[in-house]
Amino acid sequence: MTESDKIRELEKENKILKRENARLMQDLSMLSNLTDYATRLRNFNEEKVVAANKAKSNFLANMSHEIRTPMNAIIGMDEMIIRETKDNKILKFAQDIKSAGKTLLSIINDILDLSKIESGKMEIVPVAYDVASVLNDIVNMTRPKANEKGLSFEMQVDENIPSVLYGDEIRIRQIMLNIINNAIKYTAEGGIVVAVDFDANTSKLSVKVTDTGIGIKPEDMVKLYQSFQRLEETKNRNIEGTGLGLNITKQLVEMMDGSIHVESEYGVGSTFTAQVVQKVVDNAPIGDFSKKLAAAQLQREAYHPVLIAPKAKVLIVDDNEMNLEVLTGLLSDTGIRLTTALSGEECIRCLENARFDVVLLDQMMPGMSGTEVLNVIRERHLADETPIIALTADAILGARDSYIKEGFTDYLSKPVMYEDLEQTLLTYIDDSLLANGAEMDAVSNVNATEKPLVLVISESSASLNAVKEILADAYKGVYVKDEAKAEKFLQNHEVAFIIRDGGSKQ
Ligand code: ADP
Repeated sequence: MTESDKIRELEKENKILKRENARLMQDLSMLSNLTDYATRLRNFNEEKVVAANKAKSNFLANMSHEIRTPMNAIIGMDEMIIRETKDNKILKFAQDIKSAGKTLLSIINDILDLSKIESGKMEIVPVAYDVASVLNDIVNMTRPKANEKGLSFEMQVDENIPSVLYGDEIRIRQIMLNIINNAIKYTAEGGIVVAVDFDANTSKLSVKVTDTGIGIKPEDMVKLYQSFQRLEETKNRNIEGTGLGLNITKQLVEMMDGSIHVESEYGVGSTFTAQVVQKVVDNAPIGDFSKKLAAAQLQREAYHPVLIAPKAKVLIVDDNEMNLEVLTGLLSDTGIRLTTALSGEECIRCLENARFDVVLLDQMMPGMSGTEVLNVIRERHLADETPIIALTADAILGARDSYIKEGFTDYLSKPVMYEDLEQTLLTYIDDSLLANGAEMDAVSNVNATEKPLVLVISESSASLNAVKEILADAYKGVYVKDEAKAEKFLQNHEVAFIIRDGGSKQ
């Protein structure tokens, strides 16, 4: 091959390579377009998922709000039926409504929590907390339920747990309550043991709940933590639940660098252990918890202030007339001077003209919202000294802090339970406005219209209710559960006669 032949050959190859190169470039650009397209599609899908999740969370939050508002009327009116009725049958129906209402509310709270976790909005809010007081509350909220079912309930609290820890107190309570309540729910005979300890090396607080309940089949273990999964649905038909509690609990402990695990033998019982990492604030050991518990119990029994405050003035603001009716009804026996307002504007007018000791201010109102009203009140110094309590239907655990940040003194979630309303008002109404003994009598006699007083002593609520029905409108009955309370009452009152239940100690 001559030199010129070689050059021609090379030029030909070069041309082919160039063509090949151009085709490759074309392919490459097509590929890059395709990748671009795929990325855009993926982003679009992700955005769609995020938007769909957000829409779902918003929908759930709104729905829960919408449900809570009428529930306020249902539970509030029901509470009044429980107070007023003299008919045992009606009392039983009303108590069933109350219990179903509470169940419905806990379902709504679970759904809200789950949607918060799923949308990544659940935050762990650590605070310094007193371990004994948390455990004390937990016992008070669970032991009565166990005892009602005839179950034993034992607390084994390690004496060396540091007395003050740092972590999300509200969520710690939620975790403990969930596994202890489950143990009570799924146990028919025997009892529950709650063991609490703290490992100084790993900084883990551990709660171990052992029950002698129905147990869990090995093949069901995988379903345990799935949302809306309940095991043996037909067998457990009569046990209330949604199958959300353990799912939420697992996600919460994991958010606190912890874990949950279960050991169980079907038909024998289960042990759930939850562990979470907590910082130590005060290393002083908690000591003998059972002694602390007994002392706290005594204090609770000895001191239960009653809300009677005829000198106090409270302003209630809500755009819903039924809600105003419920709140004024719930407070009717307290003697408190109540003023109601149907809007933010009306609330401001009331505060321009009078001084109040507490304002209960609804959050969601057409026109001015509760927060907007609060801002005006604070800017114009209309009620600088007055505690302003937010009434809110979007009750999310931990909401208290955000309302306080906005400038409210505290908050009450709807449906408003009388016990919470009483506790809040007792906290914020100045002690000097609470009635002394004589004033209490005056208030409680307001509706008595000269009826003779009858003191009824019985340990059983059923007998008390039966007597209530018999006395009907002819007498004003005062009902107490034991002799000590009767004696206290008799020190300040004259009664026409005393009825003692045969079962009561004489
Ligand atoms: P639920 O609201 O149904 O109690 P959870 O998510 O708390 O929902 O629990 C899921 C399921 O796990 C329950 O429906 C029950 O079948 C089972 N379970 C939970 N705790 C126990 C327990 N201590 N003993 C037996 N079964 C349990």
